[in-house]
Amino acid sequence: MTDEPVAEPAAESAAGPAMHDVAVVGAGAVGLLLGCLLARRGLRAIVLERRPEPAPPGTSSRAIGIHPPGLRALAAAGVGDEVRRRAVVIRDGRVTCDGRTLGSLRFPKSGRVHSLPQREVEALLEERLGSARTVTLRRGVEVVAISDRGTHVVVHGTDGDGPVAVAARYAVGADGVRSGIRELIGADWRPHRDRATYVMCDTRDDTGAPETALLHFESAGVVESFPMPGGRRRWVARVRREPPELDVAAVATVVEARTGASFDADAASAPTAFEAAQHIAHPVAAGRIALVGDAAHEISPIGGQGMNLGWSDAVHLDRELAGAIAAAGPIDVFAAYDRARRAAAHRAVRQAAFNMRMGAPATGIRLRTRNAAVRVLGLPGFRRVLARAFTMQWL
Ligand SMILES: Cc1cc2nc3c(=O)[nH]c(=O)nc-3n(C[C@H](O)[C@H](O)[C@H](O)COP(=O)(O)OP(=O)(O)OC[C@H]3O[C@@H](n4cnc5c(N)ncnc54)[C@H](O)[C@@H]3O)c2cc1C
Repeated sequence: MTDEPVAEPAAESAAGPAMHDVAVVGAGAVGLLLGCLLARRGLRAIVLERRPEPAPPGTSSRAIGIHPPGLRALAAAGVGDEVRRRAVVIRDGRVTCDGRTLGSLRFPKSGRVHSLPQREVEALLEERLGSARTVTLRRGVEVVAISDRGTHVVVHGTDGDGPVAVAARYAVGADGVRSGIRELIGADWRPHRDRATYVMCDTRDDTGAPETALLHFESAGVVESFPMPGGRRRWVARVRREPPELDVAAVATVVEARTGASFDADAASAPTAFEAAQHIAHPVAAGRIALVGDAAHEISPIGGQGMNLGWSDAVHLDRELAGAIAAAGPIDVFAAYDRARRAAAHRAVRQAAFNMRMGAPATGIRLRTRNAAVRVLGLPGFRRVLARAFTMQWL
């Protein structure tokens, strides 16, 4: 991805009917939500997505956890009621070790996590965007460059038929963790040191606790499981390394050996393995181009924060863009956004690092100390603070 040299097509270069207010690169969960927010304001925007089609139903999903600030963002985008209708509510959480309960937490009504697969939320957002008058989603366009012309930007891409160029006042990179727009603005991709490997699969929920998040802090490493809609449950286990043969049986063996819980392998989805890594872009905006979502920060999935943080970026950016467009655009339009979103990302990274450390393998004194800490955190005085931290109510 480069910003020079690119010929600027005459029809798109000057302000006029062809000039959009905003061009968004990427129609993942965050780009779609931003598109819906811009549409609600009546701003003229285009969302460019390289995938010709959305992921088909049945494809395994990354995120499932929607925290209260995420739900508010979805409501602002116009899909909150439908998300609530389809999601399962996680009302409480329980931490155990070796079959003993170390602590439990009941989330207050205003602080409950909703669980709905990311691809279903994306489908709702895309449907919403389809009815927008001022925002268009164009699939099958891969963006390869953006030129910042000072007064506007020109976004260059290709579709099946040849080059595509779009002029807009501002551009947003919502192009995910391998963002080319991030490279384009010359942002550093700063790593944070905690890393760990996990295996994951979704299966029928046979736990008898359909609204409870279960965290097994075992000496060989954490096993977590979360309710999903349709009587299903997601299992995630920390492993030293990805098993050479990653199949459902391998995940079931890890879960059963550590927790005693068994699940029906025939009812399980194809398992996946992932390495939880963390990075924050610095800066997250330059000139007329800003980053949102995973393009701006990679947050470990442990704790389920990345998509929610991305939506909160989008809510903030939507406000900044509306203000800048109404005021005909000061040069440092994204300065406050840059500071605020990097601070929020640092907080999410710290929270996720804590979550990952709590779930690391531990024996002897380390295990006893950790269990004692969990018991203390489960005491009434700490529970509210903990519930707020875990449901991202600081956002
Ligand atoms: C296993 C797992 C579990 C997770 N669980 C949770 C959870 O429970 N809660 C939570 O909040 N988060 C969770 N996350 C994180 C969440 O999935 C991400 O934060 C979220 O997908 C980020 O959305 P995004 O729109 O920023 O990026 P993406 O979803 O990656 O979307 C980026 C889009 O940009 C498009 N694109 C890329 N380059 C170009 C280009 N050059 N031109 C055009 N289009 C382009 C891509 O095709 C893609 O559609 C989880 C992640 C993983 C891996």
